[in-house]
Amino acid sequence: MVHLEFNSESENEGIARMVTAAYMMRFDPTMEEMSDVKTAVSEAVTNSIVHAYDDTNGKIILDISSQDETIRILVEDFGIGIEDVKKAMEPMYTTKAKEERTGMGFSFMEAFMDKVEVTSTPGKGTKVLMFRKIGGIESLYE
Ligand code: ATP
Ligand code: MG
Repeated sequence: MVHLEFNSESENEGIARMVTAAYMMRFDPTMEEMSDVKTAVSEAVTNSIVHAYDDTNGKIILDISSQDETIRILVEDFGIGIEDVKKAMEPMYTTKAKEERTGMGFSFMEAFMDKVEVTSTPGKGTKVLMFRKIGGIESLYE
């Protein structure tokens, strides 16, 4: 298990990606698996930086663990929270259209991970919990 706490500086998104990649090495992932999971983490962390804290300073937690071959990743912030999670997760829904956001972050997370669960309390913060099984059926034929 890895539990990392960092400030909501945009430079730290790279650190979150690198820690995720380092953790995944033990599963001998394919390039695609590696890039999918890193992208999902990147989207979740970016959301905490730009939405939860709106570029002010706050804490973000990245917690990575695994059971068998399934990686579990939690990205948590203590920022503004989300009023309507279902709506926020719709493709192309964004509250920052002016800043050239496309509203595709949650859609990417859902496409690249097996399961994404978002819980949020307005004024308290947001938790994004994601799962991805590494090493599929193809490993049987190696
Ligand atoms: P993109 O990810 O394509 O740059 P986006 O960030 O607006 O655009 P999503 O990542 O899908 O799109 O998020 C949709 C909306 O959900 C955001 O516009 C924002 O209103 C809200 N949101 C997402 N994550 C958080 C968070 N951690 N805290 C507060 N609001 C959030
Ligand atoms: Mg986003």
